[in-house]
Amino acid sequence: MRLDLSGVSVRLDGRPIVHEADLVVDDGEFVALVGPNGCGKSTLMRTIYRALRPSAGLITVDGDDVHRLSWRESARRTAVVAQETPAELDFTVGEVVLMGRTPYERAAAADEERCARALDRVGLGGGEERGYATLSGGEKQRALIARALVQETRLLLLDEPTSHLDIRHQLEILHLVRELGVATLAVLHDLNQAAAFCDRLYVMSAGRVLAGGPPEQVLTPELISQVYGVRAVRRTQLVFERLAL
Ligand code: ADP
Ligand code: MG
Repeated sequence: MRLDLSGVSVRLDGRPIVHEADLVVDDGEFVALVGPNGCGKSTLMRTIYRALRPSAGLITVDGDDVHRLSWRESARRTAVVAQETPAELDFTVGEVVLMGRTPYERAAAADEERCARALDRVGLGGGEERGYATLSGGEKQRALIARALVQETRLLLLDEPTSHLDIRHQLEILHLVRELGVATLAVLHDLNQAAAFCDRLYVMSAGRVLAGGPPEQVLTPELISQVYGVRAVRRTQLVFERLAL
């Protein structure tokens, strides 16, 4: 599996939003996309998962132009948790998770088992019958991650997967994603978390991918001050691991 963006530009309402982005995610890598609000991260993600078309450039998964794949083929390769979580789906949690199996032949018993396992992994075990609309923001987020897991793709696209979660659930999701070993591109806000969990990260600013590489090489005080306009001090990393109680 390899996701490859080369020279990708995106315009919205005639306005250039993303400029000539180059980005790669290799098999099994956990790659973060970071950058200030409004710099174009979601626009780039939406272009990768085909909600938008690029005005220039090429996006391939395993060498195939994603914008030429059938819906089903694309859904078998790439699972998505978008930034805007649908709030008012009138479905049970089990039904929402089962939607992840739509690109495959139905196999009732095996699919139920898959859904149960995925809900366990995101900390919603046994929650199949709950109404999706009644979940908290964080629980909705985790149900949507479970839906992505049952899709059993080799590429995962996550746009701010931890944004509605408390610190414990943020860490659990980041651990889970890292342990999946599935190639993942995730928009993250917390630079410390991105540095702690990701193999590589890309920094976007004003529609451009400015830098990419291992966190310790990319997240220099100079780049952070250039991109975010804040002064950064690098200290020995303190990582909050979830302790077994
Ligand atoms: P990020 O995810 O990095 O916060 P976005 O990709 O959501 O940023 O937005 C980048 C820019 O594109 C912003 O200036 C935003 O206002 C603009 N934008 C987003 N969606 C649309 C749209 N549908 N039409 C026009 N402009 C948009
Ligand atoms: Mg966004």
